[in-house]
Amino acid sequence: MKKTIRDIDVRGKRVLVRVDFDVPRAGDGTVTDDTRIKGALSTIEYLRGEGARIILLSHLGRPKGKVVEELRFDQVACHLGHLLQQEVAKVDECLGPEVEKALASLKPGGILLLENVRFNPGEEANDPEFARSLSQLADIYVNNAFGTSHRAHASTAGVAAYLPAVAGFQLEKEITMLGQALEEPRRPFVAILGGAKVADKIGVIVNLLSKVDTLLIGGGMAYTFLKAKGYGVGKSLLEADKIDLARDTMDKAAAQGVELLLPEDVVVAPELNIAAETHILPATEIPPEEMGLDIGPETRKKYGEIIAEAGTVVWNGPLGVFELEPFAAGTRSVAEALANCPGTTIIGGGDSGAAIKKFGLEEAMTHVSTGGGASLQFLEGKELPGVAALLDA
Ligand code: ADP
Ligand code: MG
Repeated sequence: MKKTIRDIDVRGKRVLVRVDFDVPRAGDGTVTDDTRIKGALSTIEYLRGEGARIILLSHLGRPKGKVVEELRFDQVACHLGHLLQQEVAKVDECLGPEVEKALASLKPGGILLLENVRFNPGEEANDPEFARSLSQLADIYVNNAFGTSHRAHASTAGVAAYLPAVAGFQLEKEITMLGQALEEPRRPFVAILGGAKVADKIGVIVNLLSKVDTLLIGGGMAYTFLKAKGYGVGKSLLEADKIDLARDTMDKAAAQGVELLLPEDVVVAPELNIAAETHILPATEIPPEEMGLDIGPETRKKYGEIIAEAGTVVWNGPLGVFELEPFAAGTRSVAEALANCPGTTIIGGGDSGAAIKKFGLEEAMTHVSTGGGASLQFLEGKELPGVAALLDA
């Protein structure tokens, strides 16, 4: 475990908090979804209560080391001010005299939001000089941006080399939830893996194979597994260069006593189109002119029964093309099974989280990770640079 802001004396100190304010905005810059801003409130309120001087730092979009006017934080500062019922000072730089001046007048409990850190080329390059300059703004560094912690950038990892570095509450929650599920799962431990490609998920599959009791496969990658078993998959998503890997994975699962299930039936259509005519077929009988776009009702039922009995479920990757209603039922039905599961339910991955939100089931899950790529990397068993850089508890 990592130290958190509870484990360090922040009274009166200048605390640099890496937050994730990379929020969706309308054309005029107004914040259209403030979930990420709200995710930082508990940490900010704690620091405010302790009388710390709070310096917030984040990226917004992909300005690639240059100033992009539309990617400034002014509107976000306003929005945050409303949420906190407190004035949030905003500067147009990350470093320099303007920042120094604002810092000098920052009172205990006061909040200063720095400009988009990715305006500086040193951020994504993890330039040590840039990181050191950032560190000189503060006495303590806090990382609360789980969603960018898989990137070794100056504001997520580099800066931690120069300051006592601890986790904020949201980052703490992420690593505790994901970590406990992987390391101390209540059994049976079931993983559901879907999404588009084997290539994207093989790291997760390999890591989970040594931990889970049952692995349920769905989504586009199921067809490479079906092909590896010798079945025709028609026009379904197929990664020809991953067929051997899929076969190898099934052999390893068998050798380790992990039950690995593939879809028994699938929803097919001649093309990926909302108006296409769909059929339900056994997964072993997909004709050349059709493509598999969702798991079928038998598979939903079977996966649902396994989920109902699970002590822990980790889910990453939609089971079908859930963005289109004719192919959303598999993902919805698995999401509902998770919502009703009395065990611990953890969702990782950007699209999987989006699916859960679309179905309105977020509150019914134990934890829906806020970090797409970061949660995948965590599930792969890899250390995240922005987490590794923090002090051990
Ligand atoms: P996550 O972001 O949760 O890790 P992925 O990015 O791996 O998930 O996969 C999500 C995408 O997989 C979705 O856009 C979905 O449409 C697609 N997908 C799911 N099933 C299929 C399928 N059978 N054929 C093609 N694409 C699929
Ligand atoms: Mg995705």
